[in-house]
Amino acid sequence: MKREKGLLIVLSGPSGVGKGTVCGALRQHDTDIKYSVSATTRSPREGEQNGINYFFKSKEEFEKMIEEGEMLEYARYVDNYYGTPRAYVTEMIEKGYDVILEIEVQGALQVKESFPEGVFIFLMPPSLNELRSRIEGRGTETGDLIESRMTVARDEIELMDKYDYVVENDEVELAVERIKSIVTAENCKKDRL
Ligand code: 5GP
Repeated sequence: MKREKGLLIVLSGPSGVGKGTVCGALRQHDTDIKYSVSATTRSPREGEQNGINYFFKSKEEFEKMIEEGEMLEYARYVDNYYGTPRAYVTEMIEKGYDVILEIEVQGALQVKESFPEGVFIFLMPPSLNELRSRIEGRGTETGDLIESRMTVARDEIELMDKYDYVVENDEVELAVERIKSIVTAENCKKDRL
């Protein structure tokens, strides 16, 4: 049964919880879900490609996109801007595709205001200690930046109540299965007919 409009799935949760890994694995399982590429002012990490991992923008370019209403949501996160370009998301949803956003919590709450029919999933770390080891293990941040991300993470976890679903990321494949079940159930809701 083809729906007229796709679902907007918002996958959020603290930095380091594994949103990127889970999203990547989900995309391999379910190639019909469209993935929205965010814009950011942070510098590319080794191996990251413009237009694939992010659209890398200067602060001026990003602020111009905000002014021109091109962002579905955006947030300042640890001294950089991150945001979701609106055009791709609305185009895909109108065409009937489910679209997934992988974003931090402030942005997810903004999307909830403008798009309450979205499906909001909070990806939860098994513990704060485990979250710290994942951020440290990733090796992309050091010292103060790890502490900043941990401070933001504690605040973010307090906002978990605002979400429709909480998925623990104890193991990537299990988290992916849980998210797939949520998407299937949401697509079977009778109000989606
Ligand atoms: P990172 O620098 O590790 O790639 O991302 C930092 C945080 O920003 C992560 O929690 C990531 O999910 C989030 N993020 C990535 N893209 C977006 C976006 O478009 N909007 C918002 N609000 N957050 C984003």
